[in-house]
Amino acid sequence: MSTRRMSDEYTSDDIVHEESARQQDVPAVPGHRLRKYNVRMLAASVFLMMALCAILLYRISTLNAAIAEMTAQIGRLTQLAVEQREQIQSLRKELDDAQTPDDPAKEDNVGQGGGGNQEPPAEPDAAHKVYLTFDDGPSPNTQKILDILDKYGVKATFFVVGKQGDAKKEAMNKIVAAGHTLAMHSGTHKYAELYASLEDFAKDFADQQQFIYEATGVMCTIYRFPGGSSNTVSEIDMKDCARYLDSQGVRFFDWNISSGDGGTYLVPVEDLVANCTKKISKNSTSVILMHDAAGKTTTVEALPKIIETIQAMEDTVILPITDATTPIQHITWQKADAESAE
Ligand code: ZN
Repeated sequence: MSTRRMSDEYTSDDIVHEESARQQDVPAVPGHRLRKYNVRMLAASVFLMMALCAILLYRISTLNAAIAEMTAQIGRLTQLAVEQREQIQSLRKELDDAQTPDDPAKEDNVGQGGGGNQEPPAEPDAAHKVYLTFDDGPSPNTQKILDILDKYGVKATFFVVGKQGDAKKEAMNKIVAAGHTLAMHSGTHKYAELYASLEDFAKDFADQQQFIYEATGVMCTIYRFPGGSSNTVSEIDMKDCARYLDSQGVRFFDWNISSGDGGTYLVPVEDLVANCTKKISKNSTSVILMHDAAGKTTTVEALPKIIETIQAMEDTVILPITDATTPIQHITWQKADAESAE
C-alpha cells in the first residue's frame, strides 16, 4: 500500500523527467553519430572541391603563363619577319637601282656607256684610241674571245646577231657581265629581208632591241649595219636607215680598219695581226672590224698577238665603244638642218 502510495506520490514532474531521460538516452546516441558523420563528409567534400579548384586554378595560371610566353614569342617572330622583309625589300631596291635606270624605257644602261638623255662618261685621254669590234656572234668562239680579252684586261664591242634563243641570251649575258659593250647587228643578217623596206628594217631593229633588253637588261644604243652603211646590196637608201636609227636615239658605227676576216677563206694569223695594227699609229680613232663567227678560227688565234702589239704602242689605249666614242661612219646621212648641230 505504502509502495503504491509512494508510487502514487510520484509527481507529474518526475514522470516527465523519466520520459525525457528515456528519450534522450536510448535513441539519441545513433542520431548524433549520423550528424557528425554527415558533417565530416560535407567538410571532406568541400575540402576536396576546394583542392580541385586550387589545382585547376594552378593549372589555368600555368597554361596562361605558357600562352603569354608563346604569344610574346609569336610577337617577336612576327617583328623579326617584318624586319627581314623590310631588309629584303631594301636590298632588292638597291639591286634594282644598280641594275636598271630609273626609267626602263630610257636608252641607257649600266656598262653600256650611258646614252639616252644622260651625258656619257668621258673616255680616257690618249693620242690613239683603238676599238676592237666583233661582228656576227655570238658563236662557239665567243667564250674563247671573252677569255682572251679577260686575260689582257681589255674591253671590246660585240655587234651581235639574233633575236631569239636561249644560247644567244646566255652568250649576250656573258658579254655584258664581263663589262664589254653589247651592240646590235640585226636580228637576221639576211640582206634581202632586212633591207627590203624601211618598215622591214625598223621591225627587225625593234625586235632585236627588245629581245636583247629582255635577255640582258641592256637597251642597246649602238648599231652596225650588216654589210656596213656603205653596202651596195640594200633596196633602201641607207641614209633613211641611218636617220631612223637616229630617231631611236641609236648611233651606228662602221670601221676604218678591217682585219680582212670577212671573206669565205681563212686569213693567216700573221696577216690578221698586220691588217689590224699597221694603221693604228696614223689614226686618233681606230675601229677594227673582226668577226666572231664559228668558222673564224684564225681570228681567235690572232687576237692575243693583236692585243699585245697594240698594248706595246705608245700613247695608245684599247676601249669599248660607248656613246662617248667618236663615230666612224662610211656615209654622210644627216639632213641639212641637222648638219649644223653636228
Ligand atoms: Zn655582219
